[in-house]
Amino acid sequence: MRSKLSGFVLLFLTGFSYGQNTSTLITEVRIIDGTGIPAYVGSVRVNGNQIVDVGNLQALPGEQVIKGQNKFLCPGFIDAHSHHFSSLRAFPQAAATNNQGITTIVIGQDGGSYSVDSLRSWMSQRKAAVNVATYTGHTTLREQVMGEDQLLRAATSAEISSMQQMLAEEIKKGSLGLSTGLEYEPAFYSSKEEVMLLAKTAAAQKGRYISHIRSEDVTLQDAVDEIIRIGRETGMPVQISHLKIALHSQWNTSAALLQQLQQARVEGVNITADVYPYTFWNSTLKVLFPSRKYTSLPDATLAVTQLCDPAGSVMVHFAPVPAYEGKTLSQIAQIRKESPAQTLIQLIAMADSFRKANPTFSGSVETIMGKAMTENDVRNFIAWPLSVICSDGGNGGHPRGYGTFTRVLYEYVSKQPLLKVETAIYKMTGLTAQHLGIQKRGVIAPGYIADLVLLDMEKVKDHATIENGKALSDGIDQVWIGGQVTWQHQKPTGNLPGVFIAKE
Ligand SMILES: [Zn+2]
Repeated sequence: MRSKLSGFVLLFLTGFSYGQNTSTLITEVRIIDGTGIPAYVGSVRVNGNQIVDVGNLQALPGEQVIKGQNKFLCPGFIDAHSHHFSSLRAFPQAAATNNQGITTIVIGQDGGSYSVDSLRSWMSQRKAAVNVATYTGHTTLREQVMGEDQLLRAATSAEISSMQQMLAEEIKKGSLGLSTGLEYEPAFYSSKEEVMLLAKTAAAQKGRYISHIRSEDVTLQDAVDEIIRIGRETGMPVQISHLKIALHSQWNTSAALLQQLQQARVEGVNITADVYPYTFWNSTLKVLFPSRKYTSLPDATLAVTQLCDPAGSVMVHFAPVPAYEGKTLSQIAQIRKESPAQTLIQLIAMADSFRKANPTFSGSVETIMGKAMTENDVRNFIAWPLSVICSDGGNGGHPRGYGTFTRVLYEYVSKQPLLKVETAIYKMTGLTAQHLGIQKRGVIAPGYIADLVLLDMEKVKDHATIENGKALSDGIDQVWIGGQVTWQHQKPTGNLPGVFIAKE
């Protein structure tokens, strides 16, 4: 009688009958649950979009059974800083994210965002094979309040209060908080006070702050001080996006930088970071001019000696002269019979005139992959216990768009061990969910959403490169989003179960 009663209670709670063949048992797996604890052998039962049971489980009559052949079963990976959303219209099956085990992307980064209403309706009407959560972008608020041609100045107090209202509204609707892209021109001229006031609004709504900080090179120290101050004065969690040291003379100072972040944490500032596993970034040419003097030869010289290696930095897009695409800055300089510094100045001028002449051009006018970091710092940042993994990637271009998560597992777990596999997965799942304040994802436990990855650590490897940014990874055997299989046999299944994830 007792057992019948508890069976009834279970049936009532989970809302289905085991006898009706609606559940799936994933068995013969080593479970990495996303909390950082050691992997353990077991089975996971999924029903609908939920994990309903975990442990030493027997298949029920008629239940679908998937045998994991002793591979790892992990929570679906959460990409803490993604630019994949814009390609979902053309590629809703999202191979870029699924092939590396990502089941949730966090967008609205670097100060640019879509409204929560538009994302919500997009995800319910058009559908995609990835979940989406978003921050609200400072630059987007500036554009809406100040006008797109008015951004190279600080906002007035009236403008700031309009932005504050819009931001508060968005967070109430489900945005995770405020994102900034302070290194980029349309936000660079904002005052620290403007950013602080907006951050306070986000904090009042129990939101969070994530930032592509004001400098990743020459004035990195000031930029780090700024985000620490925001964390201190607002009391809300703050996260440095794609943490890096991009100034050559500062390479190998990551230990000191992490020490500073650690010290801030000791003083009560909830500061964290996300990081990607590459020594080159992908951005605009103008970020190479911290002074914003785009015609200054000394500044251009600083750019090609301290801020990037021209022989390793590749033009990805260059609309004015498509023939330059795929070539390094040094190669383009050679073609043009100039020094790399002179070429940099010319390319920026050409891109600016192209924009003026083609105001409706919608693609990327110029992007460059800048070789700018050292592996030692990247390793230190990845190893920091408070960092999580992000791709900062999109569909093509920089290989991070297809290979980030599998690269971390191959390079830093298999090849040159830096992290235990459980720790690496924690930085892709449970810890990320904590940083975002996302509930019921990122951990394998009953009641959590069934976003899952079947991972073959023997085979896992990224293959995306600068030359072939869309090469698929090995080792991601199967991906589930909300209980539906989205990736199998190295291709999408066609299921599009992604949802919009709102702040709770
Ligand atoms: Zn960024």
